[in-house]
Amino acid sequence: MSRTGRVLVLGGTGEARRLATALVAEDVDVLSSLAGRVADPRLPPGEVRIGGFGGAAGLAAWLTEHTVDVVVDATHPFAATMTASAAAAAEVARVPLLRLQRPGWTAQPGDDWRWVDSLEAAAAAVAGFDRVFLTTGRKGLAAFAGLTAHCLVRSVDPPDPPLPARTTVVLERGPFSLDDELALLREHAVQVVVTKDSGGAMTAAKLVAARELALPVVLVRRPALPPGVPTVATVDDAVAWLCRR
Ligand code: NAP
Repeated sequence: MSRTGRVLVLGGTGEARRLATALVAEDVDVLSSLAGRVADPRLPPGEVRIGGFGGAAGLAAWLTEHTVDVVVDATHPFAATMTASAAAAAEVARVPLLRLQRPGWTAQPGDDWRWVDSLEAAAAAVAGFDRVFLTTGRKGLAAFAGLTAHCLVRSVDPPDPPLPARTTVVLERGPFSLDDELALLREHAVQVVVTKDSGGAMTAAKLVAARELALPVVLVRRPALPPGVPTVATVDDAVAWLCRR
């Protein structure tokens, strides 16, 4: 791999950390960018910057000022604003862009999955249940604020109000084991699980646990990717793409 270029990795995911690790091991000049949402983030090796860029225009200006040679957007599949900004900014600044996005989850025999297009639609889909497990993350919980069910919310940092009136918060960071997920679902007598289609192994155990307990799962579909941006699904494929350049 050429060791002259500077790679900006838009991060906040395990894939972004693993990509930074692989690039640092290859002696590549890598700068990882985090939004700064999590109080105590797991930092990747190499240089790290924290905080937004000021939209697509801000990122375009930043890319030009900081002489970045290539951008890898390895943000979460639901970080749609950042992904759209990266696509627009890379075009304006004429910097090559690669999207690294892990595949979504696939239903297995025995799963009762109910797909919806938004958090609001997920809230409507669980209206008939009494005990709901919300694993959609801290952001966007306002969509569920009107629920009268008992809601179990799991997030890394404490969620901001408004929350459902009867909410129990569990502060935990993945990965989660199947045994732990089964115990949590049983302890809180969960009747339905709500999740985004984040994909990946780190948080997939809740889906297996739901299957074993014959619980329905409401899944929020991913936002569409910006057209025309080359996309890979694994860190190895991202490294190979960078090597080819
Ligand atoms: P978002 O809605 O797409 O982005 C909101 C704003 O946050 C962006 O416009 C940008 O601010 C800033 N931002 C986001 N990612 C950034 C990054 N890697 N570096 C610098 N600024 C960034 O994103 P989000 O859903 O709030 O996610 C924030 C971070 O958490 C991302 O890094 C994402 O990978 C991670 N994450 C998200 C989820 C999720 O479910 N959404 C789950 C796990 C991890 P400016 O416009 O000012 O540049």
